[in-house]
Amino acid sequence: MMETKIADSRKEGGMAPRRAERVAHDREGGKSRDMASLTEIPPETYTGAALGSLLGPLGTVAGGVAGYLLAKKVSVNVTRLNGVGNSLGTDIATANRVFSQAGITIQTAKTETLSAADSSAILGADNKLDDFTSPALTTEEQSLVAHNRTAGRITAYYVPEFIHAGTRGEAMIPSYHGVTESSIVISSADRVNDTFAHEMGHVLLNDASHDNDASNLMASGDIRNFTDKLTKGQIKKAQGSKYVH
Ligand SMILES: [Zn+2]
Repeated sequence: MMETKIADSRKEGGMAPRRAERVAHDREGGKSRDMASLTEIPPETYTGAALGSLLGPLGTVAGGVAGYLLAKKVSVNVTRLNGVGNSLGTDIATANRVFSQAGITIQTAKTETLSAADSSAILGADNKLDDFTSPALTTEEQSLVAHNRTAGRITAYYVPEFIHAGTRGEAMIPSYHGVTESSIVISSADRVNDTFAHEMGHVLLNDASHDNDASNLMASGDIRNFTDKLTKGQIKKAQGSKYVH
């Protein structure tokens, strides 16, 4: 099995994802490696564009249209807390490059920015999110994920940073947290370009575990090298997610 999972998936879900995203060497130089490797993602073979290219220039256009119409889509609500940087465009673009391997496109739906008062009501005086250390969400997380919900839709939250320094992001998913709807949280201060895509991977796979292949999207931040490949098994599972339409 390429999708090797570490035996203690509970620990992986609760601790390792966040610890992993804290590793300093992953943050340093992460961007350049990220940008370089993204261009190396092999052309995916699922789009109509690829099929169309076999038919010549006219086929490329027709294939592109067919690929767009056939693409499976994920809509994501987005809530930005007060004072966070604006990486949403970069994060969505990266996620779309990664998930094109599965013929999945990600688009934003209802987007909002919280006021300083509303953000402070969630984060408290330290202005950092108290992130989970077990399947139970923290009080601050419970308050956070109450915002901007639409039934059957993921909501992504951008916070200034997590209370655990260096944590890039986290995902709250049914299989690990017992929640009904999934959420992802991105640290504005510590995110790298594939953090959003990685957390979306936890949601679309409904799996808190990490892959041992450093080139896989679902490798932990300790080892992930920004190649961000998906296995055939991951592609099939992601395409079957309830969030993919
Ligand atoms: Zn993870």
